[in-house]
Amino acid sequence: MAEHYDVIIIGTGAGGGTLAHALAGSGKRILLLERGDFLPRETQNWDPRPVFVDGRYISKDTWFGGDGKPFQPQVHYFVGGATKLYGAALYRLRPGDFGELRHVDGVSPAWPLSYDDFEPWYSKAEQMYQVHGNDGEDPTEGHRSQPYPWPAVSHEPRIAEISAGLEKGGYRPFHAPCGILLDEANRPASTCIRCTWCDGYPCLVHAKSDAEVIAVRPVLSQPNVTLLTGAEVTKLETDAGGRTVTGVVVYRDGDRAVYTGDIVAVCAGAANSAKLLLNSASDAHPHGLANGSDQVGRNYMFHNCKAVVALSKEKNDTVFQKTLGINDFYFATDDYEYPAGNIQMIGKSNAEAMRGEKPKLTKLSPEWTLSDVAGHAVDFWLTTEDLPRPENRVTTDADGSVHLAYKSTNDAEADRLYEELKKILNHTGMAEHHVLGKNFYMDMSIPVAGCAHQAGTCRFGTDPATSVLDVNCKANEVDNLYVVDTSFFPSIGAVNPALTAIANALRVGEIIQQRIAP
Ligand SMILES: Cc1cc2nc3c(=O)[nH]c(=O)nc-3n(C[C@H](O)[C@H](O)[C@H](O)COP(=O)(O)OP(=O)(O)OC[C@H]3O[C@@H](n4cnc5c(N)ncnc54)[C@H](O)[C@@H]3O)c2cc1C
Ligand code: SF4
Repeated sequence: MAEHYDVIIIGTGAGGGTLAHALAGSGKRILLLERGDFLPRETQNWDPRPVFVDGRYISKDTWFGGDGKPFQPQVHYFVGGATKLYGAALYRLRPGDFGELRHVDGVSPAWPLSYDDFEPWYSKAEQMYQVHGNDGEDPTEGHRSQPYPWPAVSHEPRIAEISAGLEKGGYRPFHAPCGILLDEANRPASTCIRCTWCDGYPCLVHAKSDAEVIAVRPVLSQPNVTLLTGAEVTKLETDAGGRTVTGVVVYRDGDRAVYTGDIVAVCAGAANSAKLLLNSASDAHPHGLANGSDQVGRNYMFHNCKAVVALSKEKNDTVFQKTLGINDFYFATDDYEYPAGNIQMIGKSNAEAMRGEKPKLTKLSPEWTLSDVAGHAVDFWLTTEDLPRPENRVTTDADGSVHLAYKSTNDAEADRLYEELKKILNHTGMAEHHVLGKNFYMDMSIPVAGCAHQAGTCRFGTDPATSVLDVNCKANEVDNLYVVDTSFFPSIGAVNPALTAIANALRVGEIIQQRIAP
């Protein structure tokens, strides 16, 4: 039996890394168990071929779809989790997302807490992750108790032109909130060099506000914090009554060890957290740990997304493109009764990453080479909310492997958003017939594989019959078990999820801190 800790945190991503940071100052003994290693700093970090074509930083896991077909999921096992590769678009959910929202395919349920409950934690999260943004530009944003800690990342000329064109057309574009360590007022001293390799790439110079850089590294020198990498947790054991986790089973370099902690926080990401609970079934929890409600693994969401490339006659020399957002269609509008979602920019196309799409892309402009196409491309990311359907779920098989059954919802809303994008492009010098789905950004040909925004497998709530966690994110059926990653989302909204996972980790961190205080 290995050592005993006050708190054991499983996973070091947006949820687990932030939770560790929140608890480190308590002086309590904290063990971080991370199945991955530190992401290597190497030239490949900023090279589209290894990153996008070869999938260098994607796990070698095999998961299975609802039809039983194997696929390689887009998950990232490193210190910092998925945030090592994320685009650092750090949005708050809108106040309306916390209430019930009527969608074309059903109702997005209300959260047990309101935007006002989360607001102070969003502010703390933005301070911690150094979010850049401009208050008051986004028409759907809720009130804030503190301004953004950094001014918005400025638009480069082509994006400024597009923004001006949209404003002229009556739309309300805004500077997208973004977590990069960029000091535009003092570029020579800025950690971020404002490069083009941000969205979907690791940051070679550690200038992205990811969970490793912002949350984990800063606490590693503290004597009460221990990080074990290459440490995969495979099972949680409980006492006979099933009310207390008594052992955290870890495999490290093929060796098995069992750690004990007064509190155990599962932060392995929505699919893997569900996997761990389901694989921890016992006599006391025959259907999986904390799964008396049969909700563990269910209600999996990951957004109904589309990456789009639009071509314009003007060259697009933008380096850092993720500076613009459009929420005019986020909620119902006068001429459409449902929410359609969020439009934002993604990383700039380059010829290398476009190689797989060559025939389609060069067909749009036959006289152009792939480099010409990339040079004129403007890249958008459309996000529509998907609904928490009980049938969209993670289960595990006899080997403990993940099976992920998922059918998209709100396709009509996603189509509507695409149509709106095509319309607004007419205000920006990009004709709508020059728009194309951009499949290479994520592998859209196997929709479930692109599970970057996964959430919702252990939702929190006030009724133990329909939830896994209580409002403090403690498991209803286990006294010392918390789940602190995107699993707790009862609905996902249509903005990127990481800031909400971070804010919640700070919130739950305070709850745990009060509980373990002497
Ligand atoms: C390419 C890409 C772009 C994205 N862009 C954005 C964006 O711009 N904005 C945004 O808000 N979100 C973005 N996201 C999503 C965002 O990164 C996630 O929502 C967020 O990281 C989820 O946090 P988490 O704590 O739930 O999981 P993760 O951050 O994935 O952390 C889970 C951790 O648990 C570890 N782990 C898993 N299983 C085990 C186990 N059994 N034992 C031990 N450790 C384990 C993993 O290795 C990982 O470190 C993006 C994601 C990707 C992949
Ligand atoms: S833009 Fe900044 S944060 Fe992003 S990869 Fe480049 S240097 Fe890193």
